[in-house]
Amino acid sequence: MKYKKLAKLRYNIWFYFIVFAVVLLAIVWITQILFFDRIYQKKKLDTISQTGDKLSVQLNTDEKITDNILNNWLKTAVDANEAGIYSYLAYYDENNKLIVETIYSGFIISNNSDLSSSQTQTNVDDTDEIIAINAIDALIVNGNNTVCYQYKGEDIDETFYVYATTVKNEIINGYLVLRTSQQALIETVSIIQTQLIIISIIIVIIAFFLSYYISTKISKPIIQMSNTAKQWASGDESIVFSNDSYLELSELCETLNYSKEAISKTGVLQRDLLANVSHDLKTPLTMIKAYAEMIRDLSGDIKEKRDAHTNVIIDEADRLTMLVNDILDLSKLQSQTQEQDLQVVNLSSLCERVLHRFNDFAEQSGYKIIKEIEPDLYTLCDEKKIEQVVYNLVGNSINYTGDDKTIFVKLSLENDYVLFESIDSGKGISQENVETIWEKYYRFSDTHHRPIKGTGLGLSIVKTILENHRVKFGVISKKDIGSNFFIQFKQVNNNNKETEVE
Ligand code: ADP
Repeated sequence: MKYKKLAKLRYNIWFYFIVFAVVLLAIVWITQILFFDRIYQKKKLDTISQTGDKLSVQLNTDEKITDNILNNWLKTAVDANEAGIYSYLAYYDENNKLIVETIYSGFIISNNSDLSSSQTQTNVDDTDEIIAINAIDALIVNGNNTVCYQYKGEDIDETFYVYATTVKNEIINGYLVLRTSQQALIETVSIIQTQLIIISIIIVIIAFFLSYYISTKISKPIIQMSNTAKQWASGDESIVFSNDSYLELSELCETLNYSKEAISKTGVLQRDLLANVSHDLKTPLTMIKAYAEMIRDLSGDIKEKRDAHTNVIIDEADRLTMLVNDILDLSKLQSQTQEQDLQVVNLSSLCERVLHRFNDFAEQSGYKIIKEIEPDLYTLCDEKKIEQVVYNLVGNSINYTGDDKTIFVKLSLENDYVLFESIDSGKGISQENVETIWEKYYRFSDTHHRPIKGTGLGLSIVKTILENHRVKFGVISKKDIGSNFFIQFKQVNNNNKETEVE
């Protein structure tokens, strides 16, 4: 079968979930490898320059250097040291020799002997001297007071971030140099990569099982529903679609149950329709046959009787024609094989024309048709079909009106709509029947005597035509007071030929 080739929902969900996890991990890996360096460098340079600025503000002072001030320098230097940033001072002595010292050593010790025991004391080594010389050069080359840069010297097998600035106070006139190593970055990257490998494996394993679980959980109720549907297809009408795992599926079950009811109702209606059509075809045929036999056997020679019998045959043939025509009309309308001939139509004249067709009948049978038709109201519609609609509705109002034999036909302008109303004073339609009267062959008052012959298809034809026109229509009915069948046409100007039917 065709759908055998399709992938199962469960495997699809499973597959996409894993692909999603892998893509996510790939993105993390790529960003880690591509951007980590740059992010790290920026962060390092920011930190070193912030620390440098802070120290530089403290060191560049005109004030007398007290123990308190020295302690502040030391505290900042110690904090920086703990963060992996080494700060030291460089200056040229009387012999123009460059002296490089940590803040804790040399000149501070000479001012505050207590500090010599500091745990964080760092000895200046060759690397610091090389960096200091390079930093002083950079300051001179740049012509700025401060520089901050990445340094990879030829003679040092390591990359550093360096900050340098000039320092001037009561004790020293030289340079403040800060450095931090990139070694930490390499270590960090290596730690992160190991972590990433572990995390990636864990995520893939979790994604594998979680997606399997989710896909099974989603597909299971669908498979259940599909089995229920198969049961229904095999003729079991007692099945009920039920599912309370997800809102959407529960809604789908509700819709399926509703459709199931509608389908079985349609089945009943179809059977009724067939029975009705056969019955309605059979009755006139039986009559035609009976009266034809009567003419042949009995009344053939008696003109009066023969004429009466022939008239019955003609009437019954007319009824048959009407019924066959209605059935054909309806099936054509419903299969939409007929094109709609939309044009701007004067609804007022159309109504007048239809009512005129009832004039003779009304006069003869004592019916009163009260009309309130505003002139020159236009709409865009298929004239012939709407004429049929108006005819059917007015015909029904006459058929089902009360003993006063009066009906009202109104056409008025309401906002932008042309409102057609056909009102009778009959028994009305009960609430439970209001929806069903539009069904084919639906008759809830079979015993009702109808002055105008009906086929039981009139309202069904009306409904199909109006639905094709997409206009609002309906019936307002009150038991024992009467019914008002109405249609809301969209009003158009006479010269406006644009399609305005919604
Ligand atoms: P028919 O009138 O030939 O039976 P219709 O399709 O025109 O068929 O109408 C279907 C049913 O709707 C009618 O049998 C009748 O029971 C009900 N009906 C239609 N129009 C009216 C009305 N104006 N008042 C009360 N009942 C109506």
